[in-house]
Order: sequence, then C-alpha cells, then structure tokens
Amino acid sequence: MAATILDGKAFAGGVRARVRDQVARLRADHGVVPGLAVVLVGEDPASTVYVRNKGVQTVEAGMQSFTHRLEASVAQADLLALIGDLNRDPMVHGILVQLPLPAHIDADLVLNAIDPRKDVDGFHISNVGRLATGQKAMVPCTPLGCLMLLRAHLGDLSGQNAVVIGRSNIVGKPMAQLLLRDNCTVTLAHSRSRDLAAIVRRAEIVVAAVGRPEMIQGDWIAPGATVIDVGINRVLRDGKQVLVGDCDFAGCAAVAGAITPVPGGVGPMTIACLLANTLTAACRIHGLPEPAGLTA
Ligand code: NDP
Repeated sequence: MAATILDGKAFAGGVRARVRDQVARLRADHGVVPGLAVVLVGEDPASTVYVRNKGVQTVEAGMQSFTHRLEASVAQADLLALIGDLNRDPMVHGILVQLPLPAHIDADLVLNAIDPRKDVDGFHISNVGRLATGQKAMVPCTPLGCLMLLRAHLGDLSGQNAVVIGRSNIVGKPMAQLLLRDNCTVTLAHSRSRDLAAIVRRAEIVVAAVGRPEMIQGDWIAPGATVIDVGINRVLRDGKQVLVGDCDFAGCAAVAGAITPVPGGVGPMTIACLLANTLTAACRIHGLPEPAGLTA
C-alpha cells in the first residue's frame, strides 16, 4: 500500500491565499491592515533566513512587516523596552521574537513580556494556560499547521489514538493539547518512554517531533496510520547536505495511510500559520469576527 503524501507546500499555499483574501477584506471593510513585527537578536544564519522569509510572505499576504534587528550583545532591558514599544504600537498586531536568544537573555522573561493578544507564536504563559484549559488562545504555529493537515486529511479526529513523540514547549506539548481538544486519545512520548516502538504501533495518528534523523522506523507504524513528521534534520548524504525528517520516509510510507514529506510537509505550514495567527490577532484586537478555518 502506498501512502498518500500530505503535500504541506500546496496546503500552505491555500492557507496563505485564504489569509490574503481575508486581509484584503479587512482592509476594504474596516480599514485595518494587520502588522507583524519580528525581532531578531544576533546573526544566526538559519534565523536570518527564516526572518527574511517571514518578512517576504507577510508582505505577500497584504500585511505590514516590521523587522527589528538587534546586536547579539543587546542588553535585556533594551530588548524588553522594544517589546514594550511594540505592545503599544497600534500598527502591530503580532510580535514574534526569533528563538534561540543569546544565553545572557532570559527567553521566558522576554516571551512573557509580549502582550498575549499579540503573541502570534503562542508561547506566552497565559496562552499556554488558555490552550491547556480549553480557552480561546493564540496557538503555536507548527502544531497548528499539523492540526490543519490532520483535519484536512482525516476530518473529525474524535476517538483516534494519537501518539506525539517529543514534549517540547513549542511543538510536542501544544500538539498533544490540540489533539486532546479534538477528542483524540493522546499519548505524549519522550526520551524516557519505554518501548517507544510498541507505543507508536498502537497509534492511528503519529506526530514525530524529536530532532533525530529518521529515528521512527517503518515497522513501528500501524498499517494505515497517518504520520506527521515535524523533524528537520540536516545530514550528509553522498557528500551533500540534505534535509531529512524524524521518520524513515521510505519505510514509513510503505506502511502508513498518509505521511508528510520532509521538506515540503510541516515546514511550509509553520509560516502560513504565523500569517493566519497575525490575521486572527488583528481581528480579535479590533473586535471583529475571526476568519473561519484558520484557527484551532
Ligand atoms: P526539542 O529538542 O526541544 O525536543 C525534542 C523532544 O524529543 C524532547 O521532548 C525529547 O525528550 C524527545 N526525544 C529526544 N530523543 C528522543 C528519543 N530517542 N526517543 C524519544 N523522544 C526523544 O525539539 P523541538 O520540539 O524544538 O523540535 C523537534 C524537531 O522538530 C526538530 O527536528 C526541529 O528542527 C523540528 N521543528 C520543525 C519545525 C517546522 O516548522 N517544521 C518547527 C519547530 C521544530 P526529553 O524531553 O525527554 O528530552
């Protein structure tokens, strides 16, 4: 059985088009132009590329893009002052601080200084609590993208056995919360889980967010399961650097019912969901109806 390939790149294009349409309507009907501010501290090459892509796609969606580049040596107080300015700026509806931050900066302090209504990454402690307690929240972009792909492919997720591998605050834990909210029976596995292969074999939905290249093997996957591979790992193959996921793609695709590729699966959904979250934040801040199908 050959698995259906869940084309995140194409799906993300559809999400971005919907965001663009809604942004145009918001501007025409209410004179509101959503604005996203991205703060980059230092010159980490991968982060610089992400921030540039985010800026380009924000503008393509018809939104305003504001990028703030700060020296790696910036004082924490100066970064907090910038966050305060962005919180007060009426042109800014979403604030994203690119992680990781330099070691001398307390990342939790900075993330919790963002106005929760503008917290488009969903990392503020009040959004984490809101998600966990079933209240309206800003939802982290990568898990939101995974949820959209799962809903589009499977429809109602109620009653499905879901296993999330990885318990980070940015992917694993919010992913588990979202699946629970959609009435899945959720197992959250991690590096201390015993007999991971047996746990994964029970799953109808597998979300892998581990950061270990091709760790999840085909013979761990139940026939027909839906596999969402969040991992982005750079490995050397035949002397060339290539991207692979946390799942052995060929092995898993031979057994699964559906699977996301790497690249071209979850990755493109993350930025699309950032744009969706910025639009949602603008609607909420202005007391306007939220766009359907772009939030959890
Ligand atoms: P973290 O390193 O923060 O978390 C990894 C998790 O995997 C931890 O909970 C860890 O367990 C668990 N883990 C590690 N080794 C094992 C193992 N052998 N067996 C079971 N569990 C294990 O990673 P992130 O959540 O930030 O990212 C995960 C992956 O997703 C990375 O490849 C990252 O690049 C990618 N990613 C992709 C995004 C996208 O847009 N597509 C966005 C964000 C991340 P423990 O807690 O016990 O240590």
